[in-house]
Amino acid sequence: MENFMDVQNSHIVEELSLLKFMHITASKLYDYIQCPHRVWRDTYGPQEEKIKEVNPFVQLLWDRGVLYEKEVIFKIGNYLDLSKGSFEERFNKTIEAMKNKTPLIYHGVLIKDELLGIPDLIQLMPDGKYAPIDIKSGMGREGVDENSDENGKLKEHYAVQIALYTDALIRLGFENDKKGIIHDIHGNQVVYDLNSIIGKIKKISYWDLYKDIKNKVGILVSGQANNKPAMAGVCKLCPWYDSCKKWVEESDDPTGLFYVGRSKRDILNEDLNVFKIEDILSLNVDDLMEQKKKDKTYLKGLGRPTLEKIIMRANIFRNTKQPVVYNEVNFPNMSYELFFDIEDDPTQEFVYLHGVYERGPKGERFLDFTAKNLTQEAEKEAWSKFWKYIKSLPQDDFSVYYYASHEKSTYRKLQKKYPEIITENELENFFDNPHVIDLYTNIIFKNTDWPVGSYSLKALAQYCGFFWRDETPSGALSIQWFNEYIEKKDNKLLERILLYNEDDCKATMVLKDKIKEINNIVY
Ligand code: SF4
Repeated sequence: MENFMDVQNSHIVEELSLLKFMHITASKLYDYIQCPHRVWRDTYGPQEEKIKEVNPFVQLLWDRGVLYEKEVIFKIGNYLDLSKGSFEERFNKTIEAMKNKTPLIYHGVLIKDELLGIPDLIQLMPDGKYAPIDIKSGMGREGVDENSDENGKLKEHYAVQIALYTDALIRLGFENDKKGIIHDIHGNQVVYDLNSIIGKIKKISYWDLYKDIKNKVGILVSGQANNKPAMAGVCKLCPWYDSCKKWVEESDDPTGLFYVGRSKRDILNEDLNVFKIEDILSLNVDDLMEQKKKDKTYLKGLGRPTLEKIIMRANIFRNTKQPVVYNEVNFPNMSYELFFDIEDDPTQEFVYLHGVYERGPKGERFLDFTAKNLTQEAEKEAWSKFWKYIKSLPQDDFSVYYYASHEKSTYRKLQKKYPEIITENELENFFDNPHVIDLYTNIIFKNTDWPVGSYSLKALAQYCGFFWRDETPSGALSIQWFNEYIEKKDNKLLERILLYNEDDCKATMVLKDKIKEINNIVY
């Protein structure tokens, strides 16, 4: 969910209005990193298919970003405000202000050649050079471990935006050492040295990455090339979701298959001339492997197991249309089965609900452990009640099912926040218990295939005939409802959150039962 927190803030709206002009903006670079197709579709895609209303969760993030930016700017106090007026006026004033050595400029406009950048701030540094500053309501680095001295890496999508501003500054004749600053959610000013190397695997500088992405975006924006959609997790919050999904279905594009993303699809296109799921069915893996032995660049990254898996999925998707469990799954036979799902707001690192659908000797019931206030006390109390409930069950006579790794990683963070509730050892022992099962990672992903394009809980449970009672069930919307509930204290919103969570828990149960049922079918 980290990328939720990095949704562009205020100036994205402003910059969107410039899309019809052929400038390269920071937002376009950000979009390209999120999805290489987005830039082309925004410029040349069927505009009538683009969803016009902003997703309420995306809106929440924008609002939060704007609010945070206002807070930071308010505290800074002394700056030249260039946020109003036409772009031309603002550009002229920005240049004049920098020539006059104005210490701090808010929302100045930098335009040069194909570049257009509006950094949140442009600051005169002690060495007399100007540096761009962007205010972000996310962490300034990624992979930061709060319990170690490791600093984490610079974020690529922040770096390319800072690079565009510095590029514009340099081209406009203002000296800059290819450095800028990210003012992050914790108030840290993280220096982005764009000459630094990204990492051991990507041995290029952030500046080189910027140049590469800028060139690709330039080619797309100018219409010299186009590229294709590819369904991925990021699509869910994109206004082109319906449009791209329709394209993938109508084109029979291989990304319609689970786990065939953009890079695998592009290799299938380029090396095998395979453009449709239908074409995958006639591939002969032995022949392809022979060819691969002779040419190391052929089917790079696609080995025999991956190709066999893709062909198998294409066959299930297109021909048999039946789910498959490859090896028999032995679910534990316990008196109590718990189907468990949490709701949390990663933008505030707050867990507001631990939901459990319990199937026990006395029947079925839903239990919720909910924080009804946005306070640490409320969060801690809800978590503490959850563990009291777990400890109240007959030990060694219950099993737990959850879907994917989010619950485990979030609980590890909660344990560090509230070590008095449960020790690290107890928590690890809980998740290490073979009766506590990550249904997606350990069973669905490794040992099953389904005739649908996504193995998300929603897609698979719906395939099994389960339907959510909410019209628009989504984790992102649950976060938006929770924030609205905190503001308005409207119990209807809380009920909606609980109903949605209960259905997520029940969906996990339906899926587990379906796997058991398939296990028992002898074909
Ligand atoms: S829906 Fe997905 S593929 Fe289409 S533009 Fe958006 S992110 Fe890209």
